[in-house]
Amino acid sequence: MRIALAIAISVATTYAVNASAQEMKRMTHAEIIQDVLQRTKPLAFPRGDRLPIRASRLEGLWTDDDAEVERVLRELDARGIAMNARWSPGNREKSLAEGLRLARLQKKLGLGIGINANACMHSFCNGEERTFHVAEDGTLFYDDSFSPRRKMGCPFALKHRYPEIREQFDHFLGAYKDAGLDIEFIYLDWEIDGPLEWNGAWASSKKCTRCRQSIPNIDDFAEFQRALRTLRCEMQREVCAETVKRYFPRALVGNYSVYPHNGYRYWYDYYEEFAEGAPFKADQRAKYREWFHEFSLTGYTFAMPVVYTWYPTFGWYDFANADYRWFYNMLLVATNACKSTPADIPIISWLHWHTTSPPREGEPTIPGLQQFSEEKYRELLWHMLLRGTDGLMMWCPAEETGKEMQLLQEVYAAALEYKEFLDNGEPVSFAVPSQPGPVVSGLRLGNRVLVRRTDFDDTKGSISLDVDGRTLRVPRVEGECQVLSL
Ligand SMILES: [Zn+2]
Repeated sequence: MRIALAIAISVATTYAVNASAQEMKRMTHAEIIQDVLQRTKPLAFPRGDRLPIRASRLEGLWTDDDAEVERVLRELDARGIAMNARWSPGNREKSLAEGLRLARLQKKLGLGIGINANACMHSFCNGEERTFHVAEDGTLFYDDSFSPRRKMGCPFALKHRYPEIREQFDHFLGAYKDAGLDIEFIYLDWEIDGPLEWNGAWASSKKCTRCRQSIPNIDDFAEFQRALRTLRCEMQREVCAETVKRYFPRALVGNYSVYPHNGYRYWYDYYEEFAEGAPFKADQRAKYREWFHEFSLTGYTFAMPVVYTWYPTFGWYDFANADYRWFYNMLLVATNACKSTPADIPIISWLHWHTTSPPREGEPTIPGLQQFSEEKYRELLWHMLLRGTDGLMMWCPAEETGKEMQLLQEVYAAALEYKEFLDNGEPVSFAVPSQPGPVVSGLRLGNRVLVRRTDFDDTKGSISLDVDGRTLRVPRVEGECQVLSL
């Protein structure tokens, strides 16, 4: 165990890994699949009905040979990994035919049918002038502070877009329904479109006569946020979630970054900037934003937190232990979702290990930034599972897929040894220590508790945990789970 730990620490790499990955030639879909299969092993413990791992780069078909597709689907399934179809309304007949072909093969093999339907949700802000804000003098304008490629319009001028976008879902959903192919999982990665309150959005809305009429107290950020997020939820509910459930009432449907929480968001997406004047909670140099409670208004049936190594995170904290800068923030994010989500709503978390969204050339960098170590990333995954995370979903550039999947699948596979705890256990701790030290998570099943303890300092002794009025003593054991009795 000690030797294994030393090796794991020695592979903690600097950020240079990412740059070399970007210089590599783009991998084809078939190469990505091959890389994933080579780096992962078939499960030693069956997953039963636990959710498979899904990944943004394992989507769509890569060959006309059905026998080859079947072989790969079987190999992936043996490893607990599933393939999604990707719907594209811009290429609807070809994309539908491909999706149906994949789904028929999945049905034949007894596998679940999963869909990336993100393209169907685009775009509410499609660049038409009637979607724009209206200035005092009657001129029309839009907000390009989120992306130079997206003309973000007036939140109150988008309703006419609903039918066209809903039809994009209907087209695909109806065809699957008619073919007797039941969808198990369907997700969006809907980001820069529709009402968003960050970046320049607040300033733009204050200049718009329609926004000011619609939000009487527009100078109050909380009220502005509530108005915009309520509309954003309505769009997701009326256009996506309700449409999906009309065809497939039992489908898991959700969107990237929409999940129950405690009123705060501990991370920023790559396109988001803090809106000056908005309220926040400070933690060292981090500004945790107040967040609207969206989940219950969207109609989604699973929660989708985002647990990434966002580049700026490393600079927020002063912890001398570099790994704890990543681990602390990512555990805060994951714990927030686990603690706030009702037990009957599955939590399928997005994950990314390689440093996420690094600066482009010429942009400021963080001195001394170190890539999150593989060893502590695997520990993070254990703590997420032992706090109630149900499913793992991975985003990454094509070239990173094999490595990312290797790390994820290794923990996923090992955790299945404790399937009864994962399926039926209750989390015993949501604590996230504000200084590097021992971190403990556990799942209780009757008088037994499956525990993981990860140490970020040299604390040698046992840690006491209060479980239902009883004291559980957790000794330091590195890189392994413990089953303790209460
Ligand atoms: Zn407006």
